[in-house]
Amino acid sequence: MSEKLIRSIAVMTSGGDSPGMNCAIRSVVRAAIGERLKVYGIKRGYQGLINNEIYEMNASSVGSIIHHGGTVLYTSRCPEFKEKQTREKAAQILEDRDIDALVVIGGDGSFKGAKALHDEFGISVIGIPGTIDNDISGTDYTIGFDTAVQTAMEAVDKIRDTAQSSDRTFLIEVMGARTSSIALKVGICSGAENILLNNEKVNYEKISSDVRRGIRRGKNSSIIIVAEGESPGRSYQIAKVLEEKHEISSKVCVLGHIQRGGSPTPDDRFFASVMGKEAVGALLQNLECHAVVVRDAKVHVVPLDECMQKSDHAMINYLGVSETLSI
Ligand code: ADP
Repeated sequence: MSEKLIRSIAVMTSGGDSPGMNCAIRSVVRAAIGERLKVYGIKRGYQGLINNEIYEMNASSVGSIIHHGGTVLYTSRCPEFKEKQTREKAAQILEDRDIDALVVIGGDGSFKGAKALHDEFGISVIGIPGTIDNDISGTDYTIGFDTAVQTAMEAVDKIRDTAQSSDRTFLIEVMGARTSSIALKVGICSGAENILLNNEKVNYEKISSDVRRGIRRGKNSSIIIVAEGESPGRSYQIAKVLEEKHEISSKVCVLGHIQRGGSPTPDDRFFASVMGKEAVGALLQNLECHAVVVRDAKVHVVPLDECMQKSDHAMINYLGVSETLSI
């Protein structure tokens, strides 16, 4: 089989934005230029691809972005991309522009789109996991997770100050629609008394007995971290039940989109920088449908198939740590 010559690549961010995506874009662009490739930026993910929002990038296009959250390429969701005829249009645009390969920075949904482009139209694709949720199978880490945890943890620390001063129980809701990775890490890092997972029926008896046990040993406040699940704001209903059925009065704080923004942490900048360069290297080695992942703190390139499920495998095993320490 003859090897495909890669002369030009395009990079996009897709799905939810996350801090550190800019570092990954910068890395892809500069690594590609270092390899004498033409490099294009596609704005607004798959929507921008089908709208031909594509421009050539140079080293200066990614100057002074390493420390900014969000994504200079913008991002969006494009439901039509699930239809083959839309992907056919996208493939045609890439061909017309002489773009040989596509780097997709996004979550498992964005990877599914990339995989389809490869399988149906032979386009070389490589995924870089970028989402605050750390919810992709096959990788221990996704770009933006560390910053989101840092932001949420700092917020919880502040709330604990007021909770302790006024003898209060707080429910603090963090992001994570289909996985609980942020809740688990923030819960452990902030010493929360309980962590409510996204997919679990709320065990009110346990919360109630944990809060009362804390009071018996002199604790005057409790922090309960709630993964938002499919219905953001569910903490208000939980607080109502705690009040009405268990006589536990609590305050609710939903952190929301603050968790998506902010200057990326060193870990997010570091891994995004390494992963972007690895992605370009993998394409030049003619790997056609892969992802760059982190396993055991090392960066690897693996088949994209391994990274297309939602999963909180990287964090769920640590639930026991919180349960042991929050007595
Ligand atoms: P994320 O990439 O963060 O998981 P989404 O699940 O919203 O976010 O996916 C982002 C975009 O990827 C979607 O708007 C769509 O354009 C594309 N996509 C998602 N799932 C598929 C699929 N099954 N087939 C083709 N494209 C998909």
